[in-house]
Amino acid sequence: MELKERVDQLTDELLKAQKAYYVDGRPVMSDTEYDRLFDELSRIESQHPEYRSATSPTQRVGSDLSGDFPEVAHTIPVLSLDKAYSSEEVISWMDKTMKSASSSLSFVEEEKIDGISMVLYYQDGEFVRALTRGNGYVGNDVSANIRTIKAVPLRLSEPVSIAVRGEVYLPKKDFERLKEANPEAANARNLAAGTVRRQKSSEAAAVPLTIFVYEGFWEDESQRPEDHLSILARLKNLGFRINPHIAVFSSSQEKSRELLSKAGLEGKAYAFDGLGSYLEEVTAERKDLEYEIDGMVTKVNELDVRQALGYTEHHPRWAIAYKFESPQATTKVLGVTIQVGRTGRITPVAELESVPLGGSVVRRATLHNQEYINELELAVGDTVSVVKRGDVIPAVEEVLEKNEEGNTTFIIPPFCPSCGARLVQRGAHLFCPDRNCPQQVKGRISYFTSRDQMDMDSIGPKVVEKLYDMGLVRDISDLYTCDFSRLLDEKGYGEKMVRSFREAVEESKKRPFVTVLASLGLPEVGTKGAEILVKGGFTDIDRLLKASDENDIEAFTRIGQIGLQTATLIIAALQDEDMRSLISRLREAGLQFESHEEENSLEQTFSGQVWAVTGSFEHFNPRTLALKELEKRGARTVSSVTGKTTHLLAGKGGGSKRAQAESLGVRIVSEDEFISMLRQDDGKNDKVSQPEGQLSFDF
Ligand SMILES: [Zn+2]
Repeated sequence: MELKERVDQLTDELLKAQKAYYVDGRPVMSDTEYDRLFDELSRIESQHPEYRSATSPTQRVGSDLSGDFPEVAHTIPVLSLDKAYSSEEVISWMDKTMKSASSSLSFVEEEKIDGISMVLYYQDGEFVRALTRGNGYVGNDVSANIRTIKAVPLRLSEPVSIAVRGEVYLPKKDFERLKEANPEAANARNLAAGTVRRQKSSEAAAVPLTIFVYEGFWEDESQRPEDHLSILARLKNLGFRINPHIAVFSSSQEKSRELLSKAGLEGKAYAFDGLGSYLEEVTAERKDLEYEIDGMVTKVNELDVRQALGYTEHHPRWAIAYKFESPQATTKVLGVTIQVGRTGRITPVAELESVPLGGSVVRRATLHNQEYINELELAVGDTVSVVKRGDVIPAVEEVLEKNEEGNTTFIIPPFCPSCGARLVQRGAHLFCPDRNCPQQVKGRISYFTSRDQMDMDSIGPKVVEKLYDMGLVRDISDLYTCDFSRLLDEKGYGEKMVRSFREAVEESKKRPFVTVLASLGLPEVGTKGAEILVKGGFTDIDRLLKASDENDIEAFTRIGQIGLQTATLIIAALQDEDMRSLISRLREAGLQFESHEEENSLEQTFSGQVWAVTGSFEHFNPRTLALKELEKRGARTVSSVTGKTTHLLAGKGGGSKRAQAESLGVRIVSEDEFISMLRQDDGKNDKVSQPEGQLSFDF
């Protein structure tokens, strides 16, 4: 036999043995046999270096030559994923995605391995290079070290040109074994990251890293499979190691099962309503895995839909990462400032040494109130942990280390920082009692102009501050008589801006009554509250004023979603002289104080969906209330479950419709789930600049 032929034969056998052992977990030869063949190949290669190729199994042992990691551009998009911190967020993301795709989709759920993100490039079936994610466009070439990972195939079963994304990681048990020798590594991920960037690849080879791959990008797009499950199956057949822990979610368990079997993959199959409990289960059981995961990834299975959804600047729109832990950061408290909200509520805010957290830089975090500060025993100069849950403002979670300056627990001064009034305690919070307090007035005006209220977007809090300080606007109604041209003498204000302010003011006169009502700053009457009042029969301001004149509490409470306390608060606020005069001035200015037919300010996020309702509910009682919520958002409601029904809202009881829905694979939504869908849906309407003033109706 020719020597070259023998080299090819040995290479082939050894690569197969490596794959069998490291990728498939099923050894095909004994260690002794493997060593014998390996030694023979090494010997020939050292005598005849011309026969040694970069994809030879002997190259796995690495070299002692130290290398650097040149930057190389990626040829595929390597973006990070948008994040969710609750299963409700994931469910709502799925709904939105299906809505924008306007079809029922299937989703693949994968474990999010806590490792090092890697892109492997192959040309005609041969390993060419491995790049780190880097900034998403350019990564570092770490091929020499990645080549030492035995689960990374050096030759594929077909001569395809492909880029593959995967996660390099170190199994927990290997970290346990190696951590003593690597005291600088805090965890398995740390050690894996360090290993990927070792200067000498022979050192990298000594750490048993492995890899799971999860995305493939074929250079020849005609070879691209039609769904994600087929990508995984193809990658597996090419010789890659894929994570068998996957789950498929679609309109029915049966359909999910079919998708898996069509791709020839093992995995779990569920209908959509199984997602919540699936994520719970994974969260509870992840400690038993052989590797660390820090979340779950949900991906649209259909690739044509992925293409249509595309990417934002930072994330693909077709996938979301569900993180087990809220993002957290450690930083120092530089000081505490006191904020006065539009209702006079006092909020202490920690001024922080800036720190990156959950994709943004955080400089401030809320401390809620004095009670919260006392519980934390927080003092200026302390080192604290800061968390961000979902979309909310960051909060200080814990004091990690006390300051060395001897500062004691912070106490909110007893006077309003804006007007000097003595603060009063109401419930857990302190309030400035003076409605004319400059900060409160500015807050009310900014709330009124904010995008989600009167949508006078160009007149933001900074502009309001300026207008107030110049004495031009001292009250919401002043916006309608204000001579904005006075701003032209001020630095930073030009003709164009002034024109945009005037236009915003004019436009705001067209906003419907329900929006005007929500913007007045009445207690408990935000976007949702105003809607409830209008739908409940208060279709113009005079009816409201009359009810408050007559102290007609029942006119409010009979609406159903308004309790005694809320009714009393609204009545008192409407009886207030200042509020009366504000309303009459705004009326004079030409704002809408009467609702016109079929007002519907909600986005039609449920359009195209067909809902049936069964059983009894706690919050939606009578259940026509649920039907109204659905219809307002564009859903069609039907009385029986048929093949056209997309969702069944199921309360307690309700046997036959539920059974019918199950057999048809209709998505079954519980009351809690429904409420969180509505909340998510409303979330985008509620991003006011200040957290207070959101409704506190009973759901
Ligand atoms: Zn004040």
